[in-house]
Amino acid sequence: SPVLLPLVVLVYAPAGLALMVRTHQEVRFVRGMTRHERERGYLVSLMTERFAANEIRVFALAGELRQRYERMTADYMDDLRVTKQRQAKAIVAGNFGSLALAALVLGSMALLFQVGRLPLAAAVASLIALQQLTGFVSLASFGACQLHEAGVFLDDYSVFLERSQAAMTEPGSGGASDGSAALAGVPTFQTLVADKIGFRYPGGAAAVLNNISLQVKAGQVVALVGENGSGKTTLAKILAGLYRPTNGRLLLDGNEAVPASVAVLFQDFVRYAFSGAENIGLGDSARLDRRSDIEAAARSAGAHDVLAGLSDGYDTRLTRQFEDGVDLSVGQWQRVAIARALFRDSALIILDEPTAALDPRAEAQLFDTMRTLGAGRTVILISHRFSTVRNADLIVVLAAGTITEHGTHHELMARAGTYAELFNLQASAFVSQPDARPGQ
Ligand code: ADP
Repeated sequence: SPVLLPLVVLVYAPAGLALMVRTHQEVRFVRGMTRHERERGYLVSLMTERFAANEIRVFALAGELRQRYERMTADYMDDLRVTKQRQAKAIVAGNFGSLALAALVLGSMALLFQVGRLPLAAAVASLIALQQLTGFVSLASFGACQLHEAGVFLDDYSVFLERSQAAMTEPGSGGASDGSAALAGVPTFQTLVADKIGFRYPGGAAAVLNNISLQVKAGQVVALVGENGSGKTTLAKILAGLYRPTNGRLLLDGNEAVPASVAVLFQDFVRYAFSGAENIGLGDSARLDRRSDIEAAARSAGAHDVLAGLSDGYDTRLTRQFEDGVDLSVGQWQRVAIARALFRDSALIILDEPTAALDPRAEAQLFDTMRTLGAGRTVILISHRFSTVRNADLIVVLAAGTITEHGTHHELMARAGTYAELFNLQASAFVSQPDARPGQ
């Protein structure tokens, strides 16, 4: 009887509905827990990895962090329990519903058989057919539910991809992937001009830079000075082509473009858990096997003696995550990072407080090398050390996102403005300090 066919589907409907509820609960749980789990994962790395070990011991934070972790785990387990209970209830209810409907169908078949409307052979055949069909329908609907669940997460993934695509072309979000172009035949520039540049971080309330106009000539060392938060790093990133300005233009020899190859040394440079040679070579991975160039960069940055003196020389791993590895001091790491920036043979090099952990003699040496090393290499330097800054060809003073003064050290000292004030403040700290302590 053709009537039996839709009945099979009907029989399975409650169980199928339950599967949908299960999927819905699963998606709700995973989505709702994303932020929570990210935070819990952060706590795990805080408690188990090396970067925070010092502070956690010194400030005796282990108990506090552990409590937070346990609280979060308890929340996670609570939500998981609720989710699993709801899912189980839905499945049980659905299965009972289907069972009842199946009983109804079988009952009506028995009735048909009894009143003689259904011959025995047909009754048995339809019983078997019914059983098989239910099996297939159940499989198909389970598959459909899984597909649906995967689809929900795939949707999330494509939204994510779309957003990152949009961000690539959005100003100010680091879309300059051409910044890593291969070195051979890198076009250099004669002038790099910021033309009335303004910048606002995506989602940021106020502009971080306003109306910045600046001309840098090839081979110059330009120092950016100013208080924390005045916009030095942001400006350096715009000049490097890492951020696109929200307003105004960046001009290379008069054309709107970003520098083809930039070496940047940020304050928070990466300490790769690789060998010393690799830590330097990654500045230009295409030349990773050029050991002599790597050594030359290390010598220029003052990192050669340290690396050569390690048990396995340049091949020693710079991490204690591996048995044969060693760790370096902050200043030594900084030299390695500087070597990495130098190894990248680019026309523009940006140093964001690179020498903070170097002693003054090492810093002076580094800048001497920097000057002699690359003819035509342009250096943008961010530093709070005026002894370094004073040697720059151009000093740019930033305050709250605008340029307040610019010129050479002598020009700015003659101006007796902010720069002169800050310079004298720092100088006086050395000059007026009572060097000769009693008894010395
Ligand atoms: P500086 O290098 O002079 O200390 P920055 O350029 O780092 O200054 O920062 C300038 C301003 O931009 C600060 O107010 C800072 O809070 C803000 N800022 C820096 N980075 C970001 C970011 N990624 N997102 C939003 N705001 C930022």
